[in-house]
Amino acid sequence: MHAAEQADEAKAAFLATLSHELRTPLNAILGYAQLLKRDTSLNERQGTAARTIHQSGTHLLTLITDILDLSKIEAGKFELHPAPFDVRGFLNGISDIIRVRAEEKVLNFVCEAASELPDFVLADEKRLRQVLLNLLGNAIKFTDRGQVGIHVSVVSRTGTDAILRFEVRDTGIGIRADEIETIFQPFEQVGAVQRRSGGTGLGLSISSKLVELMGGTIHVESTAGVGSRFLFDLAVPVAGSEPLVPAATTAVTGYRGPRRRILIVDDMPENRAMLADTLGELGFDIRQAANGQEGVDAAIAMSPDLILMDVRMPVMDGLEAIRLIRKIAALGILPIIAVSAGVTPEDRARSLTAGADGFLPKPVEHEALIRMITRQLPMDWIEEQAEQAVPSRSDTTAVVAPSQADIAILHGLALAGDMREIRRQADRLTTLDGRYQSFADTLQRLARGYQSQAILNLIEQHLDRKQVA
Ligand code: ADP
Repeated sequence: MHAAEQADEAKAAFLATLSHELRTPLNAILGYAQLLKRDTSLNERQGTAARTIHQSGTHLLTLITDILDLSKIEAGKFELHPAPFDVRGFLNGISDIIRVRAEEKVLNFVCEAASELPDFVLADEKRLRQVLLNLLGNAIKFTDRGQVGIHVSVVSRTGTDAILRFEVRDTGIGIRADEIETIFQPFEQVGAVQRRSGGTGLGLSISSKLVELMGGTIHVESTAGVGSRFLFDLAVPVAGSEPLVPAATTAVTGYRGPRRRILIVDDMPENRAMLADTLGELGFDIRQAANGQEGVDAAIAMSPDLILMDVRMPVMDGLEAIRLIRKIAALGILPIIAVSAGVTPEDRARSLTAGADGFLPKPVEHEALIRMITRQLPMDWIEEQAEQAVPSRSDTTAVVAPSQADIAILHGLALAGDMREIRRQADRLTTLDGRYQSFADTLQRLARGYQSQAILNLIEQHLDRKQVA
């Protein structure tokens, strides 16, 4: 092997370890932030704080992943994942994060979005957020008085496409003309040394590469001592459909039926406590164990309905514990979900080969946890009846609904209350056309919770009575 290849491999191994180490504490931070976000007893300020912790933590997670991605971009192996998203909601999310930081430095913060901005566009939301947060973060860092702002305008627009201009302006220290080229180089920082703390010099090089992948170029206009303006234009398809059910409206608050026992095995007390709090709140009977050996002992003693098993632990790791539990006939087909901060396809495969029924990456995302438990245990969830759980009639034109023939079939099944067949039909719809995914997901979720009235409401909103009559 060439020295250069060896160096690349060493770098990749180092980054994978780093990613694992950073994800582990983030699991507790994000888990508790998610728990707080759902706490209805919080006042408005506390609620905003919880949301901001969650958003900032999520951003941190994004960054960890992105450091790994930088090597992929450089190797030309990087892919964008465009999906429809709500532009104003997206900008509000960014503003919530940045406003707090601007206030800390007593800076004025403005977010300006043109009124003719499309509601929904198709783009890689995560990557766009990363770029804008990087530019805004720099704007705040290099500004001591005055204002920082984000301005989004429409350069041109047709029915199906738009060119959007994103601008980040500040009244900060500015950049000298001869240094402008340099700042886009990895690990380059210019200007006074005392300003360089807290940065890596990676931000702008990742951002400029991401914008290039999205089809744009970041331009800079800057005057030393006056301020800077970073801007780029992106051509984006205008999306007509919004996700049918926003994630926040699907909160599960408990379940019906006998009390279920879950065993949580993790060596980090804070990670155990976070999962125990999250699941305890839903009414599960929780037991905890601090390593694989204790986990096996506890499984024999309590015979749980489900186990959440961390993978990397001292004394005995999760994979070994899963293998041992699988040999204990008395425990039968006890579902085990491996939970791991190692998130590569190989990590997943190792857990499944050891005998796990499912795999959850850390930080554990609440919705994913609920979905995974549902897949392993027949749960009759109690869901919070959020106002927008089913879109109002005026929204439904935006949703890609199946054909009237399929709607009529579903209508008959909904009237008969045949949840099992509804789920089968939902599966069929997703294989038929990817655009039905969000409609089918909602059907699946409602059918799992035996929400027959909600299913009927949903279907009737798409039912053209003239055609089926
Ligand atoms: P970091 O902010 O982590 O140091 P970046 O790649 O984001 O790295 O930025 C590189 C350098 O470009 C910064 O260290 C700074 O010298 C300069 N820079 C970036 N944005 C601004 C700005 N808004 N005003 C002044 N200088 C800036």
